[in-house]
Amino acid sequence: MLLPNSYATFALDTVDMKFNTKTVHGGQENTDPAYGSVMPPIYQTSTYSQSTPGGHKGFEYSRSGNPTRTALEKSLASIENAKFGLAFGSGLAAIDAVMKLFKPGDEIISTNDLYGGSYRLFTTIFENFEIKFHFIGMQDASKIEEYINENTKLIWLETPTNPMMNIIDIEAASKIAKKHNLLLAVDNTFATPYLQQPMDLGADIVMHSATKYLGGHSDVVLGALVVNDKNLAEKLYFIQKASGAVCGPQDSFLVLRGIKTLHLRMQRHCENGEAVAKFLKTHPKVDKVYWPGFEDHPNHDIAKKQMKDFGGMISFTTKENTLESATKIVENLKVFTLAESLGGVESLAGHPASMTHASIPQEERAKIGVVDSLIRLSIGVEDEGDLIEDLKQALG
Ligand SMILES: *Cc1c(COP(=O)(O)O)cnc(C)c1O
Repeated sequence: MLLPNSYATFALDTVDMKFNTKTVHGGQENTDPAYGSVMPPIYQTSTYSQSTPGGHKGFEYSRSGNPTRTALEKSLASIENAKFGLAFGSGLAAIDAVMKLFKPGDEIISTNDLYGGSYRLFTTIFENFEIKFHFIGMQDASKIEEYINENTKLIWLETPTNPMMNIIDIEAASKIAKKHNLLLAVDNTFATPYLQQPMDLGADIVMHSATKYLGGHSDVVLGALVVNDKNLAEKLYFIQKASGAVCGPQDSFLVLRGIKTLHLRMQRHCENGEAVAKFLKTHPKVDKVYWPGFEDHPNHDIAKKQMKDFGGMISFTTKENTLESATKIVENLKVFTLAESLGGVESLAGHPASMTHASIPQEERAKIGVVDSLIRLSIGVEDEGDLIEDLKQALG
């Protein structure tokens, strides 16, 4: 079982580029051989002509490979400092592919404060296939070891976590994974490789909902995995092809285009995020503000160690700790849009308990701090003054 030819030509010459160059050029051909187009063409085709049976130019059918998708996959690998990239129809399709590496009886240790859809996939689909999940707090990474036994195969973590902005020490988790011969997978959706590079900290798999910051414009749903190990890449490539949850060429193009400005957008997301977090912290009606940039954030030191900056995701609660007060605030926002998702150029507000995390039972939600008044903000790249004014009027 071999990777297709297109993967073997991974542009290793881009390895030495700085991150801000990799977003634009990483893994890419400088010009296309046909007409010199600067962006890769959108190869909107399902199949490829063969001169003789098996005589093709590296692509035979677009489920197993498509040149536009390959261009994206190489870009993804490059920006995450990995050797192999794989793109899927959604972030959950990418996670689904990782889960298919395992078999009944295997056990997985996962963060308890994670994306609601990941929790739903694990508990409603893969528990049926007798994969056992342990959902635990990992803010103290040494806790992970208590749950390891001879069936444990994978540690799955998200950092910063969604929506509580907890920070998990990737390097510490990776040391535990290596000691016990487990795989470590990191959902890097919130941080993006601009802020944190889990492969460099010892992760085996980095996963993305590219729907969020990588795409960056709220116009596409797409998922990604990157890995360094060739054997693991081959297994995942086989699952991608055999299960077929691939993304189309148009969507691949949109994410590739989004990645080219990732560093510029992230810088602004971080600047605006800091301004909004500081504003909320001093507002009389606001109770708690969850943002890893605050020195009193319980894992601020780890955030400082493993992240370049603190990102544009913020959650907060109000002193009037009711569902009604939270509902009123999000309904009154004008610049912020009340919507699921995150990571786009526009600022979004969400109510996790009734939106993104509704699939987690209320008592489970409460345990991790997802109370009914919690509001999650994805800070966009608009003018920071306009965002603060909007929050001021909505809170007032
Ligand atoms: C959105 C999201 C996912 C799921 O990705 P989709 O592209 O919506 O399938 C997984 N993890 C995190 C952290 C997310 O925010």
